[in-house]
Amino acid sequence: MSKPYRIFRTEVLRAQRISPSFVRVTLAGPELAFCGATLLDQRVKLIFSTDPETLAGADDWYAAWRELPDERRPPMRTYTLRDVRPEAGEVDIDFACHGDAGPASRFALTAAPGQQVLLVGPDARVPGHDASGVAWQPGRARELLLVGDETAAPAICNILSVLPAEATGLAVIEVPHADDAQPVEAPDGVEVRWVARTGERVGDDATPHVLEWARQRTSGVPGEGVEETDRERDGLLIWEEASADEDRYAWLAGEAGWVTGLRRSLVNELGLPRKQLSFMGYWKDGVVAVG
Ligand SMILES: Cc1cc2nc3c(=O)[nH]c(=O)nc-3n(C[C@H](O)[C@H](O)[C@H](O)COP(=O)(O)OP(=O)(O)OC[C@H]3O[C@@H](n4cnc5c(N)ncnc54)[C@H](O)[C@@H]3O)c2cc1C
Repeated sequence: MSKPYRIFRTEVLRAQRISPSFVRVTLAGPELAFCGATLLDQRVKLIFSTDPETLAGADDWYAAWRELPDERRPPMRTYTLRDVRPEAGEVDIDFACHGDAGPASRFALTAAPGQQVLLVGPDARVPGHDASGVAWQPGRARELLLVGDETAAPAICNILSVLPAEATGLAVIEVPHADDAQPVEAPDGVEVRWVARTGERVGDDATPHVLEWARQRTSGVPGEGVEETDRERDGLLIWEEASADEDRYAWLAGEAGWVTGLRRSLVNELGLPRKQLSFMGYWKDGVVAVG
């Protein structure tokens, strides 16, 4: 049976600085005619390979990638598609650039037309492609909380633009600069707050907005008690998706230490039911992503 994700051979069509921190890279290639256009927070992978055919031609690209010797295994990073135009064979990805500390940020800052990159993304011809890699599962919830840093801004903008008109709630997006705020469509009942970072630590400026929102809606009675896990202590990325189909749904994504602490405050201190909350570590300060 075909897998919902496949490798697309692409090359850079253009790279545009859209704000102080973001570079939008448009990738193009005829194979992208089959790229799924679910968007939302559906994750994709980019593989920065100097020898793309080795992986693009493999039956099982992931096994082939894993089996490469360390010194030949190209870096792979996770991103969100900001737009897909199958008819043109193009996709857009918004990179929150953080200097040349990592291969993905470096790629976005230096991307030149014609540069090759492999995209692992949903194959629109395979049933289930639209649900694979999607964490956003609000079910019947109509009161929504979306919280993220700059790495989650593409996903939050995608989600806001397709919410039903009757949705209510708050989206808080913390970005490095005030000018990183983007125009975004959202239902009238959903307030969108772009919060500019004023200090060193990711999340410090967004957190008070989130806690204030939650205080007005929760019992304030300490909840289930989420403990720090071994994975968190070891600096590994953390991920938990909500299991409830209830009136309220919260989605948090961004720097792992921040979203973990925020989730603990919401659940432990304010009594937000854990099963109504999805939280995803998109990156971890001081830790190189492993693909
Ligand atoms: C599901 C998912 C979707 C994502 N979508 C997007 C997206 O659409 N756009 C986007 O920009 N990012 C997105 N990210 C985050 C992105 O994958 C990470 O930021 C990734 O680590 C960047 O890789 P790199 O090669 O630049 O840095 P790495 O090689 O992974 O890290 C090098 C150093 O840079 C630090 N670092 C990594 N990211 C950042 C950052 N953003 N700011 C400051 N320091 C950083 C690390 O802590 C490390 O010290 C997503 C992550 C996930 C899991």
